[in-house]
Amino acid sequence: MKLKTFALGGVHPEEHKLSANAPIVNLPLPAQLVVPLGQNLGAPPKPIVKKGDEVKTGQLIARAEAFISANLHAPATGKVVKVDEATDTSGYRRPAIYIEVSGEDKWAEGINPTNELVTRLDYSRDEIIAKVKEAGIVGLGGATFPTHVKLMLPPGKKADYLLINGVECEPYLTSDHRLMLEKAQEIMQGIRLMMIALEVKRAIIGVENNKPDAIAHLAAMALAHPGISVQALKVKYPQGGEKQLIKALVNREVPSGKLPIEVGCVVSNVGTAFAVYEAVTKNKPLIERVVTVTGLGLTKPSNFLVRIGTPVSALIQAAGGMPENSGKIINGGPMMGKAMTTPEVPVVKGSSGILIMPRELSSRKEPQACIRCSKCTTVCPMGLEPYLLARLSKLERYEDTEREQIMDCIECGSCQFTCPSNIPLLDYLRLGKFRTGQLIRNRK
Ligand code: SF4
Ligand code: SF4
Repeated sequence: MKLKTFALGGVHPEEHKLSANAPIVNLPLPAQLVVPLGQNLGAPPKPIVKKGDEVKTGQLIARAEAFISANLHAPATGKVVKVDEATDTSGYRRPAIYIEVSGEDKWAEGINPTNELVTRLDYSRDEIIAKVKEAGIVGLGGATFPTHVKLMLPPGKKADYLLINGVECEPYLTSDHRLMLEKAQEIMQGIRLMMIALEVKRAIIGVENNKPDAIAHLAAMALAHPGISVQALKVKYPQGGEKQLIKALVNREVPSGKLPIEVGCVVSNVGTAFAVYEAVTKNKPLIERVVTVTGLGLTKPSNFLVRIGTPVSALIQAAGGMPENSGKIINGGPMMGKAMTTPEVPVVKGSSGILIMPRELSSRKEPQACIRCSKCTTVCPMGLEPYLLARLSKLERYEDTEREQIMDCIECGSCQFTCPSNIPLLDYLRLGKFRTGQLIRNRK
């Protein structure tokens, strides 16, 4: 199979896929689950339970009221002990529902919790979207955009392709890789269901060539599914970026500030396809996900299937505990992930991995003056000038960052990774994007 990739920029960080051969293991239920309300892009759902309420596994506990929002369900059977604030992975206190777990799952009515493969496809477009909405499915590749909204195309728009992201280009992370190996049939069914909802005839699954077992397995499965194909991609970061994947798979370019549907594409992720399958065929809401727990000093780098709301500390414990020389705990991978202030925070719908960095790799090197080498510009997959944007952001010149298209930055970190002067470009870019976004919104 000829390998494809995106055209502009990119870097090659060390892969360190330490948990690639670790099968997905179910983590036991903890004594308490803390379920933050704001787990999706858009407005958080409104709680519909209160202290003292008994809840069953999969029962609706917070309802989405805004257009861009997602329902939330009890990840286990138990009692609501409080609706209060809790620290999230970013260190902020946000509203959450605390559930004392009874220890045994009693499932809410209508949910099929078994692992049997259901191959039914005779659902209408509206039925699929309604079930995905009810189940609170969000994009599990990291964006957490509500999936039912993505499946409802804007008026006048038509999709030619559904592109499925099986790239997992972040170093260390392997949850999607394991899912592709262990749940390929279910992923195929989920893709077929999304194809019905989007009324598209073609779906392409993009997988980087460092996962030949997943490529071979999915390609064999795809033979039984008309319209679905698998494309091997060159290993190049950030191959999994939405715009980079579209360029690599169908050679279309999404214009600045526009969405993939402008070029006839909808992009989803293998984990989301699996969740759509469970939502539609089994009425199963998004109450659990696969999370990689990894790091160079860790005894057992692992992939766990965990309920939403489980403390990160329980995952680290199950992976052998914190190594002695631990420096930082990162939520996500080393390129785009963010350092956590404490492991006593819950797993959320968007948690793809927990990375423990050894002390010697955790501290940043002293930044030096920019030597105008332009390496950051060369590797930027969005064609931006990172050194300029970082400088303007530092000077708080947000009209200028807007003009220089900072909102196109996908925060991939390739510029910072390559900078020989150790300038924290990504920090400035994130801050600049945030402030520029505020400026744009305030104008409306
Ligand atoms: S973080 Fe932004 S500016 Fe830096 S390389 Fe990625 S897209 Fe370009
Ligand atoms: S890579 Fe670093 S040193 Fe080189 S131009 Fe960019 S910011 Fe300056």
